[in-house]
Amino acid sequence: MTLLTAVAASDIGRVRESNQDAVLVDEDLFVVADGMGVRGEIASLLAVEVLRASVGAIRTSASLVEACREANHAVWRRAETDPELAGMGTTLTAIGVVTGTGGKTLAVVNVGDSRAYLIQGGTAQCITTDDSLVGDLVRAGELTESEARTHPQRSILTKALGVGPDVQPHLVRVDPASGDRLLLCTDGLFNELDEGEIGSVLSSVKDPNEAAVELVRLANSRGGSDNVSVVVVDIARPPEALPE
Ligand code: MN
Repeated sequence: MTLLTAVAASDIGRVRESNQDAVLVDEDLFVVADGMGVRGEIASLLAVEVLRASVGAIRTSASLVEACREANHAVWRRAETDPELAGMGTTLTAIGVVTGTGGKTLAVVNVGDSRAYLIQGGTAQCITTDDSLVGDLVRAGELTESEARTHPQRSILTKALGVGPDVQPHLVRVDPASGDRLLLCTDGLFNELDEGEIGSVLSSVKDPNEAAVELVRLANSRGGSDNVSVVVVDIARPPEALPE
C-alpha cells in the first residue's frame, strides 16, 4: 500500500480569466483546492501550503484533520487582516497516507465540494461529502446527481475553508487494494463529466498522466466553464504480485 504513484493536472478552462484551483502531489500527501472570492487563488494556495507544513512527517487521521483546521485558520486570518483579500475562501480535499492501529492506510479529509473518487473494478465511486446546497438536495432525494450538475445554484457552498475561525472537515478512511486508483478533483471536472464517464476514463487509460490529461481535455471539450483540476493516485501492485 505504500507504493503510490500520483500525477496532477490543472487547467484554467475555457471561460474563466484565472485559475483559482491549487493542487499538490507530495510523496504521500495529495491535495486539490478550489479558491473562491476575488483573490481565490491566494486562498487555495495558502490552504495547500499550510496543510502541507502542518501535517508533519508522522501522520494519523487526527493529524490530517488538525492540519486542515490550521489551514482554515490561516486563510481566515489572512482574509480578516487584509481588506483586499476579504471574502476569500477555498475548498480543500486531501488524501494522506496515515498510520492507524492496523498499519498504513489512506485518510481523506474534505471541506467544500471538491471530491475524491475510488476507482475499483471499472467504476468510480465518490467517497467524499459535498458541502454544497445541491449536495444537501441530492442527499435529501430532492435532486438527482445529473440535475445537480447543471443546477443554477450548484456553486453555493454550505462550508468552506477560510470563512470562519474554525471548521470541522469530513474524514473517511480508505483501504484500497493493489491496482486501485483514486481521483481528487474540483467541480470543474464533475460538473462536466458524470461518474460513469470518470470511471470509464480512469479504468481504460492505464497511464496516470494520460488519464489526467484526458479528463481535463474532456471537461474542456464540454465547455470548460470552470477551472478543472485532477490528481490521479495509483495504488501500485507490490513487486511480487506482478505478472510473470
Ligand atoms: Mn470550481
